[in-house]
Amino acid sequence: MTDKQISASIPSVRTAVITGSANWGIAFPEDVGVAGVRVLARDLAFETPYGLTENWKLLEFDASLTVEGRAKQVLCMYSHGNPRDHIDHSCHRPAFWVLMQAGVRRVLACSTMGAVNKAIQPGDMVINADLIELTQTPYSLLEGRQRFDCSGKQLVCPHCASLLAQTARRHWPASRRIHGVEQGLVAAHAYGPRLTSPAEAMAFRSMGADVINHSIAPEATLSREIGACFTPCAFVTAGFNDYMDRNRGQLLQDDVLPSLSMIASRVALETIARFPEDEDCTCHSLKSPQPEERYARF
Ligand SMILES: [Zn+2]
Repeated sequence: MTDKQISASIPSVRTAVITGSANWGIAFPEDVGVAGVRVLARDLAFETPYGLTENWKLLEFDASLTVEGRAKQVLCMYSHGNPRDHIDHSCHRPAFWVLMQAGVRRVLACSTMGAVNKAIQPGDMVINADLIELTQTPYSLLEGRQRFDCSGKQLVCPHCASLLAQTARRHWPASRRIHGVEQGLVAAHAYGPRLTSPAEAMAFRSMGADVINHSIAPEATLSREIGACFTPCAFVTAGFNDYMDRNRGQLLQDDVLPSLSMIASRVALETIARFPEDEDCTCHSLKSPQPEERYARF
């Protein structure tokens, strides 16, 4: 017997939250203890054209928490769609296929990152505005090869990012900073799981990156491909000097993650509670249908 429930039907929801390194060590959302957030189902698994995707939860937010004043359901994806026992860089494709079928319009993804901008310190939250991932994602979900254009502009939703920053300012330690989307900071994506080498960190810095994140570009690209807003809820666990110090075998600053993971998890839940269910966003039109002759005539 397996503890996985293969769900025949994907629930219809407008919001998804993706857990990751920012939530490690925490049963999310059970351990966070945000009143009015409950788990309707856990260990959900969905069959997709790209294989099985597992470890999903279906959450419900009480009407008292939402802008519409009515309860809403949210899909919670475990660890960016990865299986629990190995790394699978193709995992985002079945995972976002589920979000597309669900009708998700807003995605918030939790992760941690390293800073290659010396002004950004461990413990800071960074809501980057742009991305560098030179291969984009090899696991595209864009239906019909010539039917849609996907813009590379505004890959992070300014409206959702603003809600995230407002929420974070209520909880984040005063000694650490919150770098909002208006600062225009750039995140480079490196797939990992090996942490970035000093030479790679310098290469990304030379290309214009302020931070390096293992879990951001496929999420942002696939959110665009399903016509959804994307927002990263991420904080820094290694600074520039940590990358460059070759005398220290370790990269991450151990004390940062445990102290901030619970706060970041609370911020994520309170932020998605405030995401509107029905409102259109300018992000949604950045996936645009192409004229029929582009794909009908060949
Ligand atoms: Zn948006």
